[in-house]
Amino acid sequence: MRTALVTGITGQDGAYLAALLLEKGYRVVGMARRSASADMVSARLRWLGVLDRIELVDGDLLDLSSLIRIVNSVEPDEVYNLAAQSFVAASWQQPLLTGLATGIGAANLLEAVRIARPQARFYQASSSEMYGLIQEKVQSERTPFYPRSPYAVAKLYAHWMTVNYRESFGLHASSGILFNHESPLRGIEFVTRKVTDGVARIKLGLATQLPLGNLDATRDWGHARDYVEAMWLMLQQDVADDYVVATGRTTSIRELCRIAFSHAGLNYQDHVVTRSDLIRPAEVDVLLGDASKAKAKLGWQATTTLEVMIAEMVEADLARHRATARSAIA
Ligand code: NDP
Ligand code: GDP
Repeated sequence: MRTALVTGITGQDGAYLAALLLEKGYRVVGMARRSASADMVSARLRWLGVLDRIELVDGDLLDLSSLIRIVNSVEPDEVYNLAAQSFVAASWQQPLLTGLATGIGAANLLEAVRIARPQARFYQASSSEMYGLIQEKVQSERTPFYPRSPYAVAKLYAHWMTVNYRESFGLHASSGILFNHESPLRGIEFVTRKVTDGVARIKLGLATQLPLGNLDATRDWGHARDYVEAMWLMLQQDVADDYVVATGRTTSIRELCRIAFSHAGLNYQDHVVTRSDLIRPAEVDVLLGDASKAKAKLGWQATTTLEVMIAEMVEADLARHRATARSAIA
């Protein structure tokens, strides 16, 4: 039985990747930070029904010795580094923490693997945010980077460290340059989930307005369930490499609102208000990925349309709010 060590197991991708790896017969060990609210932290794993089937170990990307101990004792065949301070907007408020967790954290884990388990295959969660102020209309593995936030700068460091450890020490280390991917388990502060949760609350009479920032930015949005498959495929290749993972379609926040509100029979223009404090100090206006290398080499392509995914997210948020209302009455 193959063993996978997954950091960021309590996040969106950690939950979907754990489900995929279990389905493939792996022993899955997830690294989680000790929390005073441990019951809340494992909510995503519980939602997907995988919490009881994985092992959890305490660790933090900021603590190199914890990582070395974990890699030593778990003896993973594959290591997936999904942990990060992952929210762009927060990275301007906590730039140093973001640098430590999202940037140096990846270097710590690469060090732990190099020291304790150099034969393990390593996956780094790189991001389309690294393209930032885009240098080409459609972004591929060959497009130059231009990060626009402390988050993107930190991700770029982690990305190049992954490339460097592959080239310097021969680690089987791959980076997935993943474009935005969402699901019912997406963090509530990200725009897709903020919108689908807002739609659900408005539909159920719990709110009337949804405040948003820049409605004109566009993103290439796919489904997290599809994207974790690409991560796994990268580590099944004989040779480690970097891959763009994207849908090839870009959609504005405004259009996202239209799709989500109309799924619930609502008109977004009646409810969405723009608020200047939600505008970012520097914006990434457009992201649009070219995943043809992933298609050619990994046989991967996105399968879920934005409309289907948003419908799934709105329905999940409606169900959550209805369940909360029922438990308040009971
Ligand atoms: P989430 O924000 O949902 O999850 C982040 C995870 O990292 C959580 O489990 C969090 O733990 C953990 N974490 C944060 N800091 C530390 C730390 N110091 N030590 C250990 N664990 C830590 O992110 P996603 O699942 O959406 O994304 C997964 C990865 O992919 C991230 O690295 C993200 O930056 C990257 N990415 C995501 C994209 C997307 O669209 N979703 C696009 C491109 C890249 P806790 O629960 O304790 O907070
Ligand atoms: P990001 O691409 O990783 O930054 O993902 P987000 O979902 O956080 O943001 C996507 C885009 O939505 C960015 O261009 C934001 O400026 C825009 N946006 C507009 N209003 C909001 C909002 O209220 N919250 C968030 N998170 N993003 C918003």
